Amino acid sequence: MQDWQQSLRQAMIDPMELAERFGIDSAPLQRVARRYPMRISPYYLSLIEGPGDPLWRQCVPDERELTDPTRSADPLDEERLSPSPAVVHRYADRVLLLVGGDCATYCRFCTRKRKLGCSTMTVSEEDLAAGIDYIASRPEVRDVLLSGGDPLLLEDDQLEAILLRLRAIPHVEMVRIGGRLPVTLPERITDDLCQMLRRFAPLYLNTHFNHPRELTPQAAAACVRLADAGIVLGNQTVLLRGVNDSAETQANLWRGLLRLRVRPYYLHHMDLVRGTGHFRTRIETGLDILQALRGPLSGMALPQYVIDSPGGKGKIPLLPEYLLSLGDQARLRTPGGEVIQFPNYEI
Ligand SMILES: *Cc1c(COP(=O)(O)O)cnc(C)c1O
Ligand code: SF4
Repeated sequence: MQDWQQSLRQAMIDPMELAERFGIDSAPLQRVARRYPMRISPYYLSLIEGPGDPLWRQCVPDERELTDPTRSADPLDEERLSPSPAVVHRYADRVLLLVGGDCATYCRFCTRKRKLGCSTMTVSEEDLAAGIDYIASRPEVRDVLLSGGDPLLLEDDQLEAILLRLRAIPHVEMVRIGGRLPVTLPERITDDLCQMLRRFAPLYLNTHFNHPRELTPQAAAACVRLADAGIVLGNQTVLLRGVNDSAETQANLWRGLLRLRVRPYYLHHMDLVRGTGHFRTRIETGLDILQALRGPLSGMALPQYVIDSPGGKGKIPLLPEYLLSLGDQARLRTPGGEVIQFPNYEI
């Protein structure tokens, strides 16, 4: 079997090649990929059955990315909430530490689309060291979320060095890794990686399955290896128009995740990120899905449906006490008590 580094080098980055393989016109793909790069791992590519299927839509450039009227490239104001280049600190007791500069497959709906495939996505040694120093200087931080990019694209020894430095900080009680490689590059989840990670309990890994067709035997084996190493697995799904915006699809996804020992954690409403507008549903779509499945599915299978409020005001659970009104401009209350408006229409 070839190693994961080799798979990664064989990722498809040329829209011409993709168009040829599926017998479609490459020009529109190329126009989009010049602005927002394409990258699809060989494994993820092998899961695509044809143009327009739910996996295709997640990773193949779409012309609507270029005409999206959404204004902000950084709606969550991550850059303002960044006390150090590799850190996003929005909640007192937990921080994001951006460690990994890249992803195995570029998701077209990525919140950090502004940086994907660009040099600004790479994190330097100095920035990483400054980020860890920042965490060490803030005794209120108990929980560090490694993000990026995909932290699991680091080599084992690089990741181990980061975990050792974090573990040496007395007030850091736990580490979470956010990463999509169980979905897009399951061969990365090697026994060596799992043996290394198992020493860092409590370690949580939130992965990112969006569709039941991603629950393959390879993905299942990756999740089981991680779970057997004592890593607690959760899943964050993004609600995507044309991909997973029905109760039936989500029910199959959430039940399937539990079979893989992965607990559904969040269902994210699409952020207002430029270039991703065609994926956004109305809030009602997510509410209807949860309403239809509350009861038919165990509470174990049901994630919390959340919107990340623009301007860095945090995640808002879409529950009655926070959802003041719908309509084309929904009114939401942040957990901090502030009332905000959120555009609630499809484009
Ligand atoms: C989502 C998020 C977290 C983690 O939030 P949880 O609700 O604890 O999962 C932490 N920091 C930032 C900036 C976030 O966006
Ligand atoms: S894996 Fe995550 S960070 Fe990477 S492109 Fe997909 S959504 Fe963005």
